[in-house]
Amino acid sequence: MTALVGHLINGEMITDTNTRTQDVFNPSTGGVDKQVALASKKTVEEAIASAKAAFPEWRNTPPNKRARVMFRFKELLEKNADTICKLIGQEHGKISHDAAGELQRGIENVEYACGAPELLKGEHSKNVGPNIDSWSEFQPLGVVAGITPFNFPAMVPMWMFPLAIVCGNTFILKPSERDPSSTLYIAQLLHEAGLPDGVLNVVNGDKEAVDVLLTHQDIKAVSFVGSTPIAEYIYTTANANGKRCQALGGAKNHAIIMPDADMDNAINQLVGAAFGSCGERCMALSVAVAVGDEAADTLVTKMSEAMKSLKVGAFDNASNDFGPVISAAHKQKVQGYITSAEKEGAKIVVDGRDIAVEGHEQGFFVGATLIDNVTTTMESYEAEIFGPVLQVMRVKTMEEAMTLINDHEYGNGTCIFTRDGEAARYFSDNIQVGMVGINVPLPVPVAYHSFGGWKRSLFGDLHAYGPDGVRFYTKRKTITQRWPSSGVREGVSMSFPS
Ligand code: NAD
Repeated sequence: MTALVGHLINGEMITDTNTRTQDVFNPSTGGVDKQVALASKKTVEEAIASAKAAFPEWRNTPPNKRARVMFRFKELLEKNADTICKLIGQEHGKISHDAAGELQRGIENVEYACGAPELLKGEHSKNVGPNIDSWSEFQPLGVVAGITPFNFPAMVPMWMFPLAIVCGNTFILKPSERDPSSTLYIAQLLHEAGLPDGVLNVVNGDKEAVDVLLTHQDIKAVSFVGSTPIAEYIYTTANANGKRCQALGGAKNHAIIMPDADMDNAINQLVGAAFGSCGERCMALSVAVAVGDEAADTLVTKMSEAMKSLKVGAFDNASNDFGPVISAAHKQKVQGYITSAEKEGAKIVVDGRDIAVEGHEQGFFVGATLIDNVTTTMESYEAEIFGPVLQVMRVKTMEEAMTLINDHEYGNGTCIFTRDGEAARYFSDNIQVGMVGINVPLPVPVAYHSFGGWKRSLFGDLHAYGPDGVRFYTKRKTITQRWPSSGVREGVSMSFPS
């Protein structure tokens, strides 16, 4: 019998009775190792009720005590890192070194959350008027929800719940149903760290569960990370139901390769950023825009040479560079984009469509692929491929490169490789993208900044985690207070106070 991954509600592991289930694959073998319970409306409502009941006491728990739970949580994450990385690998396909990087980035968000007393200090002004003081404080919202994608089952949930919880909220997390186990295990560790029951609840599920979260009156805010069509749906539905929402979507991240770039360095950076994690990163560099034919020719020659040494294989062999994509259907989709580029006139320089991994013939592998002469009208250029595919575009000037980036519907991340400080400064100032790298291929902001794209890569105003995360998970209240000196009576004034 395959194991069933359930939910964590009010501190208890449960599975629905008579629940719908879905297969959880091991993408490295193509086999089904587990099933995940898909929460019914009733189960999600139970989780919300549990979070609602836990809120009043948690809200009044001093921030330093809330933070203390996070300090212990961080230690447990570090102690159990191998187990977490293995769970990620089994269900996502990520190699252990890559999973460890994801986990570390998640832990850094927990470290930031440990600063709760400082983050929630508020603002104070004395004597804003005679005997009048005024201050702003940041109060929790209540029960908030997070809905996360498959590609970072440890890190992205930790962009959300540690900060939401230290801010005094209680939380419902709906992880990806495709790789739910590491997320659920991490939530159990938080309980081991001393989190009171009901403060964090995990419901596994699909659209049925999500729709309850989007419409239930007790959910005050929703954080979402996933693909753009779903992000847009989440944002509009949550807003229509009166909820605060931040919904981070898909991406098409371009790197500009200037003629003066240190080409060997740029190639090394591009290899990791394009093919790492099998290209299943929202910050993956999937388009290299070479300025001038000389830069383009050097890029294509050196890149195809560098790609020869890439080792593709199962998650549990640490010498592999990257593993499989998430599903058989996604493998076909990625192969389809490569084929469509070929049909539309692009040149497939390195073709990963038919890769065979010995001993893992049923795994969902796609090899690293390099496509040259890609143009803006190609289907594969417009779409987010989300696979190990680097597309090369050839332009004459930096302005031309910037125009095509600015014209793309996504605006998550971008990067320029150059030795010219003036060009880099102009680029970062004028590019319509939320996260910019200068000779840095994956400019993922550290935990004490905030993460978010522009255009259709983010619906909402506030970015994820960091300072924006604190603002998202709290509402400002401003109190103005007067204690008149005893015996002083003020007369009636009908003018606006000034
Ligand atoms: P997805 O949109 O398919 O799923 C994300 C979440 O939404 C999952 O929890 C899923 O259960 C839920 N969901 C799916 N369909 C739904 C529906 N019809 N109604 C309600 N909920 C639904 O995304 P994915 O394939 O899991 O993840 C990959 C995508 O996420 C890529 O597009 C990637 O760029 C994006 N992503 C973005 C960021 C970012 O920060 N911008 C980070 C990671 C991943």
